[in-house]
Amino acid sequence: MVELGDLDVQVRESLRARRVKIAIVSPGQIRVTVPMGFPTAEVPLILAANRPWLERNLPKMPGAHPQMLALAAIAEEWRLTLGFPRQEHYPELHLPHRDEVIPWLRRKAEVQLVPILHQVSQETGLSFQKATVRHQKTRWASCSGQGHISLNCKLLFLPPADLRYVLIHELCHTVHLNHSANFWALVASFLPDYRDRDRAVRQAWQYVPPWLGWR
Ligand SMILES: [Zn+2]
Repeated sequence: MVELGDLDVQVRESLRARRVKIAIVSPGQIRVTVPMGFPTAEVPLILAANRPWLERNLPKMPGAHPQMLALAAIAEEWRLTLGFPRQEHYPELHLPHRDEVIPWLRRKAEVQLVPILHQVSQETGLSFQKATVRHQKTRWASCSGQGHISLNCKLLFLPPADLRYVLIHELCHTVHLNHSANFWALVASFLPDYRDRDRAVRQAWQYVPPWLGWR
C-alpha cells in the first residue's frame, strides 16, 4: 500500500517532454516530468490515476531497506544499516545513529576527495592554498579569494566526470574569481564539453539519497 502523501514528488518541466512521465528515482521519491507550461496542479491527479502502477513498482526499488550510499566519485558502494548489524556482500557501514552519516562522509571525503583535488590541480597546473571538506546545504563547492577551496562531502555521490567538472570549475576560480567570459574560456580549455557537465551538475543532487537531505 503506497500512501501518496508519504512520497517525495519532484516536478520537473522539460522542453523535450511531449507528455507527462513518472519515474521512481529512489524508494519513496518520484520524479514527474511535464512539458513546459503544463499545469502542475494536475500532478496529484495524475499520480492518483497511476496509483496501481506505483503500488506495483515502488516496493521493488532496490535499497529500500537498508539504505545505500553510492559514492560514484570513488567507485564505492556501502550498504548502510542503522541500529543492528547485518551481513551482506557490500562493505558494512554500521553507525549508532543516522546523525553519524554526514560526519562519516566528511571524513571519507577528506581522505579520498581532497587527494583527487590535488591530482586535478597538478594535471591542470592550477594551484590552490588549502582544501577543506564541509557539508554545505546548497553548494557543491566554493573557492575563496585566498584560494581556499571548500568541497561538499556529498560530492562523493557524483559520477567521476561530474566531480571532475566541479573540481576544475573551482580551480579555475583561483585565477578568475567570477563567472566572466575569461573564466569560462579557462574552464573550456580543460573541459570543452563544460556546458553539458555544468547542466549535469545542476541536476546531480538526484544522486544524493533524499533521506540525507538536500536543498
Ligand atoms: Zn563558480
